[in-house]
Amino acid sequence: MDIQGSVEEHFAALSKCGLEVVLVKKIADFDEVSGLIIPGGESTTIGKLLEKFELDKAIIAKFKKGMAIWGTCAGAILLAKRIVEDSKVNGLKLMDVEVSRNAYGRQIDSFETEINFGVGKDSKKIPAVFIRAPKISSIGKNVKILAKYKNEIIAAREGKLLATTFHPEMTNNLEVHKYFVKMC
Ligand code: GLN
Repeated sequence: MDIQGSVEEHFAALSKCGLEVVLVKKIADFDEVSGLIIPGGESTTIGKLLEKFELDKAIIAKFKKGMAIWGTCAGAILLAKRIVEDSKVNGLKLMDVEVSRNAYGRQIDSFETEINFGVGKDSKKIPAVFIRAPKISSIGKNVKILAKYKNEIIAAREGKLLATTFHPEMTNNLEVHKYFVKMC
């Protein structure tokens, strides 16, 4: 999704995975796409632009036909069915999670750490960058937790939807991109 946020970094990471990457700016760009990344940025702005260009409806229609979607940070906010105390965001309301924006507070609004991503023997230690990150404050029964940090859910999956509150594209590690590629 190329309308705002960390698009270039995702583009580079997916290219390193050997994929043909399409920058989605308008409805016609969806035609050949089997997976969509909604990048980090500013969820209010991305939401407004999605509405303005009627991309929100197009994304939902493509999702219903089987397209996978990964939201990083602001993208995760846009995927959520519930956003705590925030009605300004024009979300897609697809994923059965509740998120709370800017939930790590101002003092530590950006930080980098190591986390475990994945379940059981498939779990991998990866670097994670958090930038004014949201928290996933609750999840529905069909949502699988893929990573936690200090007891907070930071990565989750529901069918063909993936949400991470951190930015894997801002590190050299490709694990989460590879995971998403398998979902597509
Ligand atoms: N704080 C931003 C928001 O609420 C998200 C930040 C990000 O995507 N890095 O939209």
